Amino acid sequence: MAITLDIARDNPNAQTIAAAAPSPLPGEDKPTLIGLSREELGEAMGTIGVPPKQWRMRASQLWHWLYVRGVSDFSQMTNIAKDLRQKLDDTFSIARPEIVSEQISVDGTRKWLFRFPPRGAGRPVEVETVYIPEEGRGTLCVSSQVGCTLTCTFCHTGTQKLVRNLTAEEILSQILMARDRLGDFPDANTPQGAIVPSEGRLVSNIVMMGMGEPLYNFDNVKKALLIASDGDGLSLSKRRITLSTSGVVPEIFRTGDEIGCSKRRIAGCSRSDQQEVES
Ligand code: SF4
Repeated sequence: MAITLDIARDNPNAQTIAAAAPSPLPGEDKPTLIGLSREELGEAMGTIGVPPKQWRMRASQLWHWLYVRGVSDFSQMTNIAKDLRQKLDDTFSIARPEIVSEQISVDGTRKWLFRFPPRGAGRPVEVETVYIPEEGRGTLCVSSQVGCTLTCTFCHTGTQKLVRNLTAEEILSQILMARDRLGDFPDANTPQGAIVPSEGRLVSNIVMMGMGEPLYNFDNVKKALLIASDGDGLSLSKRRITLSTSGVVPEIFRTGDEIGCSKRRIAGCSRSDQQEVES
């Protein structure tokens, strides 16, 4: 069962709901700014003394640097005053995860193992992300959980226990890291000899088909994909984002209601409720 997300743009009439200022996740010094909505970014600015009338502008600046320019260091945000950059650096993180390994196949397929902080798991966690270049497109297979509660017979992850859900930041970080490594941000260089699409974007498609069942981590997956498809940021086409599920029926309906997605069948589902989904 696969779902192609058709993520609706923010409703301009929707009320802004106040969000709490970001707090550090367990075991970390600084909260991350990756994965926050624009409203949450603005509120985070308030916590370091930025006046409310500047929140929107500062959030737009950060959004641009994080998701258009792909920077991972506040010092690169050259249109933000030095003292504010310093405050940002003192208070927040925009760091990328650690790369445990990067494997490159002769056909250009790349597999990364990324390490994230424990965040309640008791030890650092590792997830896989895979890039598959083809003529005219580059597909990134992104993980949503560490391990999985399901046991699909064809899947190695199904032999591993669920450790924890990935945060929206960690889901987005897989995309940011892939674009870093492929030189898919402005002013970046693609590694010499890399096999990538001959034209267009190097990461043009996303499939939520890595480790984990994305619909068992619905809120974080939804938040990450809304940011990934934002037209002023990473700007991945909604038609090119596919969410693959083993068939979690209630969440599929929720996905349809809240996000507005279409559904497609893929082979290999082992869950008993698959027939219900397909009917
Ligand atoms: S839901 Fe996905 S990750 Fe989990 S066992 Fe099935 S195929 Fe593997």
